Amino acid sequence: MVQLGFYINQSLCTGCKACSVSCKDKNNLHVGINFRRVYSFEEGNFIQQPSSGIVQNVKAFYFSIACNHCAQPKCTQSCPVGAISKDKDNGVVTIDQEVCQGTQLCVKACPYGAPQYNKKVFKSDKCDFCIDLQEKGEEPVCVSTCPMRAIEYGPIRELRKKYGNVSQIKGMPSDSLTHPNIVITPHRDAKMIQ
Ligand code: SF4
Ligand code: SF4
Repeated sequence: MVQLGFYINQSLCTGCKACSVSCKDKNNLHVGINFRRVYSFEEGNFIQQPSSGIVQNVKAFYFSIACNHCAQPKCTQSCPVGAISKDKDNGVVTIDQEVCQGTQLCVKACPYGAPQYNKKVFKSDKCDFCIDLQEKGEEPVCVSTCPMRAIEYGPIRELRKKYGNVSQIKGMPSDSLTHPNIVITPHRDAKMIQ
């Protein structure tokens, strides 16, 4: 199997959310449902110094994430009706909309918040890696939309060879839970403290 994965160069991300919006548009998603989400993280403060005015130690960064098509997906294990499967050729995890019964157990099981419940149709769905576009030789829509070229995709083995093995940044769940197929170049303030 040639497992596919995403690469996120977080240090380039400006938080514009074009990736999220293009994904929403492509998948015709209702308000409140986002297969790709862009999170912001802020910490720090403005500090009044006794004699030298105000200094600040504010840190902020953005992070774009969808489904990580994990090596050990919690979602597939959680589904009582077997609606979620991992493709044996490319490792892409998809939810069969014909089979899904809307129990939302995958929504609760995924540590990354990838499956999204649609109240209008009583089913959950998520990123399918734009496999329809890939079959036509095109890139996933988030990849082609990002103006900063901060998202890439491809065989995870190649992405790791090129960019390393970081798959967890500050604020993210432990990568030991599902072994996500994502490689990240972290923003300087998002690196995990060793
Ligand atoms: S990110 Fe969540 S939904 Fe996607 S494969 Fe991993 S556990 Fe499943
Ligand atoms: S489109 Fe690119 S720069 Fe904009 S939020 Fe998404 S990853 Fe970041």
